[in-house]
Amino acid sequence: MLDTDQKLLKGGEFLIAETEPSNVFIIEDFTEEQNMVLAMVKEFVEKKVLPVSAQIESLDIELTKKLLKEAGELGLLGTSFPEEYGGFMQNFETNMALTSLLAPTRSFSLSHGAHTGIGMLPILYFGTDAQKQKYLPPCIAGDKFAAYCLTEPTSGSDALSAKTNAALSEDGSYYLLNGQKMWITNAGFADVFTVFAQIDGDKFTGFIVERDWEGISFGAEEQKLGIKGSSTRQVFFENVKVPVDNLLGEIGKGHKIAFNILNIGRIKLCAGVLGGSKMLNNLSIQYANERKQFGKSIGNFGAIKYKLAEQATRIYATETAMHRAGRDISKMEHKLLEDGKTLAEALLGAAEEYAIECAILKVYGSECLDYCADEGLQIHGGMGYSEEMHMAGAYRDARINRIFEGTNEINRMLTVDMLMKRVMKGEIDMMQPAMAVQKEMMGMPAMGTPDNSLLADEKKYVANLKKLFLAVAGATIQELMQKLENEQEILMNMADIMSEIYICESSILATLKAVSVRGEAACEGEICMTKLYINDAIERCGLQAKNAVASWADGDTKRMLMLGIKRFTKHEFVNTKALRRTIADSLLAANTYCFK
Ligand SMILES: Cc1cc2nc3c(=O)[nH]c(=O)nc-3n(C[C@H](O)[C@H](O)[C@H](O)COP(=O)(O)OP(=O)(O)OC[C@H]3O[C@@H](n4cnc5c(N)ncnc54)[C@H](O)[C@@H]3O)c2cc1C
Repeated sequence: MLDTDQKLLKGGEFLIAETEPSNVFIIEDFTEEQNMVLAMVKEFVEKKVLPVSAQIESLDIELTKKLLKEAGELGLLGTSFPEEYGGFMQNFETNMALTSLLAPTRSFSLSHGAHTGIGMLPILYFGTDAQKQKYLPPCIAGDKFAAYCLTEPTSGSDALSAKTNAALSEDGSYYLLNGQKMWITNAGFADVFTVFAQIDGDKFTGFIVERDWEGISFGAEEQKLGIKGSSTRQVFFENVKVPVDNLLGEIGKGHKIAFNILNIGRIKLCAGVLGGSKMLNNLSIQYANERKQFGKSIGNFGAIKYKLAEQATRIYATETAMHRAGRDISKMEHKLLEDGKTLAEALLGAAEEYAIECAILKVYGSECLDYCADEGLQIHGGMGYSEEMHMAGAYRDARINRIFEGTNEINRMLTVDMLMKRVMKGEIDMMQPAMAVQKEMMGMPAMGTPDNSLLADEKKYVANLKKLFLAVAGATIQELMQKLENEQEILMNMADIMSEIYICESSILATLKAVSVRGEAACEGEICMTKLYINDAIERCGLQAKNAVASWADGDTKRMLMLGIKRFTKHEFVNTKALRRTIADSLLAANTYCFK
């Protein structure tokens, strides 16, 4: 049972409020029951999927379907679904951990994720009872599979401009669906499709469409850069008769389905890419221990230690933020249920509340995986470039994650846009803290009282990064107002500062909680990684802030803001070489990613 009495921050409120370490999730918070579910997933992955991985990657769709069916028999297709539909409902954290454990199965994890996520969730959240009863049980059992059709050749990021059209028949009994969808995961074998179309050309609406209805056809399998074992095809609709009973949600409210499903998809994507990142860090560590050059294993070289430690640090820091957001979503869901909301309203409301954090995690998770794949390949040298080893495939597979579930550019812009909307609506009060920071910038820096507690400096630095954000964002918004939306470079700067703050603070909170549970000595690596991540994040934030300010300010305003940036990014630069060596030595000694 989750403790909902602890103060639950609103989404985005982390920028102006503090959180206690006890509020965040660490691995010890998993219950015995959750650990049992996860052990079952691990066994399924190791015994059933990984041994046939090469065959799956050759796009053996029958094998993928067979394994999905086996997953269904184990209950692994129903962990986000209530028992009344044959599900095996687990909480949000368990589902994220499950996604993370499936990641090493590469394309299989994508087929599983598209089926149980974007494929089935729209029906659970927006379907009528009859639709849920009809479509969910066979999908949960693995007898039928699901897919999600939003993207079209001319509408990708601009999803609402879809051209697929749905016209109500004269007798009002069905919609005639015409159009084309593109890049549809699982299209090669899915039976049930959530399809978005414009009713009468301008009412964006969701529909449930079945594969064997007349008028549906499919393009050839896309020849992709990576995730080659995942089916991706175009879907064509030519005068497909969709019964009115298969309209999903409300007419003209398809955007609610599309966007809400993406919030959940984004944090789950983060869970998946961090699972993949850990696997790549493991492979890199093992290769660094095995491969000998100049008479010693390459793990002895500082240049290699740097990469191993950096991979692990990015994984750790991003994972603490993901766990934090996951727990907040779980708690919010619980609170909304207690407030009398339906399950669907509670799940959707909780994910929507933390949509800013979900966007941050999607971006930083996918970029962490790219780093791990790129430097993992580099650690493998020529063997990294060979198909004989895992790295070449992983390098190609990694790249898609910056593109789907909203490209990273779109997600960065959303991060700021959603925050600004919340501020405008009065949901988050940023005016007062921003004014306080402006006043502080005019005065002398306060000395503060000395604090020698663990990570006290880092806490102070993160508090200052929050002031940095308020100072830069406040002044920029005041100056540019509506024009800001056309200054995407500045929006990207602001998104990155927000994201770094969330990740830095989450690392401190999780590390302090872990120390309180495991003791300081057992958390040496986690402490080093937190210090390292924050040290470098301050430098990155300083640069982002300077770029933002220099884009528009001049004269006294520019000078004052630049002084503010200097003040709020002031820190004792740590010995990053020593920290990275300590982290890398732990990894090499364990011969695996050994932090939690
Ligand atoms: C392997 C794969 C599987 C997929 N699976 C599915 C699926 O199952 N279902 C589904 O519906 N879709 C799916 N997609 C589609 C995916 O969601 C889209 O590719 C993605 O949303 C980007 O759209 P696009 O490809 O049209 O790129 P575009 O929107 O054309 O973007 C091109 C570039 O322009 C940038 N850009 C676009 N608009 C802006 C803007 N306003 N400001 C700044 N930059 C901008 C983008 O960030 C990107 O860098 C899949 C795609 C792939 C490749």
